[in-house]
Amino acid sequence: MLSMPALGEEALAASKWKKDELLIRENYFEFAEMPEKREETNRIIVHHTGLPKDRDMTAAEIHMLHRDRLGWAGIGYHYVIRKNGMVERGRGWNMVGAHAQYNNKDSVGIALAGNFCIGTPTPEQINSLVNLLVTLCGVYNLVPDELSVIGHRDVNATACPGDMLYDMLPQIRKRVMTRMGLNLPEDEIG
Ligand SMILES: [Zn+2]
Repeated sequence: MLSMPALGEEALAASKWKKDELLIRENYFEFAEMPEKREETNRIIVHHTGLPKDRDMTAAEIHMLHRDRLGWAGIGYHYVIRKNGMVERGRGWNMVGAHAQYNNKDSVGIALAGNFCIGTPTPEQINSLVNLLVTLCGVYNLVPDELSVIGHRDVNATACPGDMLYDMLPQIRKRVMTRMGLNLPEDEIG
């Protein structure tokens, strides 16, 4: 079910100026076993889904792959961002994920659908990633710097999230900073 605003005139008016408000498609996946509760959140780790083809993937498809093929409890990522920018719920927001070996206990995992070793994220995906990061940094009281908002390759030996997305992370952090009102004075020059 989509968490869309109710269809009243007021909601419609509000939705016009709150265009970039975060909407999440809720999923209620069945897990093979209940994942542990996450006690702290210090980092947000960005991934691509990284299949051989740069293509869209639903959270449901990833869930089945992780649970039924890989034998995990279920989808390892907390959020999946589709090519059209839709944000889908993966693992419960307060559960320990399975997305970055030895680094799951204190992190949230976001996967953008695609393979960014060979393709580029869509502008819609990047906009949604910025929106999601603004929200999550607010919820977990994180400054979106290079310690808190990182790529998978920063913690494990992997190409993930692909050069095309990884190279965008500095600009993405900057956009999140701006939206959170955290710009340092020197950021305004150039
Ligand atoms: Zn990854």
